[in-house]
Amino acid sequence: MKNRKLLMIPGPIEVDPAVLRAMGEVTTSHVAPNFIESFGNSLELMRKIWLAPKGQPFIIAGSGTLAMDMAVSNLIEPGDNALVISTGYFGERYKNILTTYGANVTVLQAEIGDTVPLETIEKELSSKNYKLLTITHVDTSTGVLTDPKSIVHLAQKHNTLSILDGVCATAGEETQQEAWGIDIVLTGSQKAIGVPPGLALLVASEKAMDTWKNRKTPVQNYYGSFTNWLPIMQAYEERKPSYFGTPPVNLIRALEVSLTLIHNERIKNRVATHLQYAKAFRNAVQSIGLQLVPKNNEIAAHTMTAIYYPEGIDGNLFRKDIAEFGVILAGGLHAEIKTKYFRIGHMGAITKSDIVATLSAIESALHKQNYNFEFGKSIREFLSYFA
Ligand SMILES: *Cc1c(COP(=O)(O)O)cnc(C)c1O
Repeated sequence: MKNRKLLMIPGPIEVDPAVLRAMGEVTTSHVAPNFIESFGNSLELMRKIWLAPKGQPFIIAGSGTLAMDMAVSNLIEPGDNALVISTGYFGERYKNILTTYGANVTVLQAEIGDTVPLETIEKELSSKNYKLLTITHVDTSTGVLTDPKSIVHLAQKHNTLSILDGVCATAGEETQQEAWGIDIVLTGSQKAIGVPPGLALLVASEKAMDTWKNRKTPVQNYYGSFTNWLPIMQAYEERKPSYFGTPPVNLIRALEVSLTLIHNERIKNRVATHLQYAKAFRNAVQSIGLQLVPKNNEIAAHTMTAIYYPEGIDGNLFRKDIAEFGVILAGGLHAEIKTKYFRIGHMGAITKSDIVATLSAIESALHKQNYNFEFGKSIREFLSYFA
């Protein structure tokens, strides 16, 4: 029997065995020629996957929150206006980060399960001079997908920089950084990028790098400052040794393997697969009467799904039964509805059979609590999507 459970949460996720094997390779020096090659190659692959040929990639040891922190601390100066377009928990986090660096923050807060209307954003951008705005691509607390393209278009009209928190989206949701004009697209290794946790990843546009270069005040962040890391990224790309802080060599080798797998599959196909799986999964759970947190399917993420427990279902017992079935799902994260819903991650290297196993676990746990539905229906629905 496999002594492990299927990890179907919105990060960390199931990773490809080849990525795990790379984690177990002999640890080399951070200036060993083979590691310099892996680091340089990873930076080049990021540009391709982010679709940002002129962007400046950064790979830093830390979690996704460090990438959020770096994006803001390098661009914001005290007193700048910043706009947060919030669809849940991670919009709130961006407000806190911006406040830490002295920005005047305005938050446009969507209702739970909804997005912020474009007209509201347009109106706010016209009301004063905003240095930057932040968008959460997929808010992991609600499973709501925001369309960055149209928001960034508005931002550009108002000469406002844009930061896309892609932590639960990049490499799973369509993102064309350069074509859409997004200034920073950031993520963490443990979500759709498909690597164990521990890396902050971001790509900055030329405009973002110019804004940083032309600062009037020093960056109020030591570890995350571009001043310290840009020369390191440049050196690795030129295949030269350098040092600021020791890079996590095993994780970066694993990153190289995962980025190579994504690149070989083609990012377009990878995103299309996420779309198909998400649609089929949504059909499946909706066919047995489950209700999603996002108000409609058009704004539901393709990397994860947030689902309300039906009336009368005990959430803790439900997830415990699911774990006994061999599948790990996540509970709620959004403070206002925390106990009322659960979350499933379906991104990265997962397969159709992983989703079938998840549906089986969900049905079994619901059945055990006498939820009234046609047993087996969600699985038939999922399979018929691909038949
Ligand atoms: C997970 C997540 C984060 C935080 O990432 P950590 O790696 O936990 O620091 C930020 N934003 C979004 C949208 C996320 O899903």
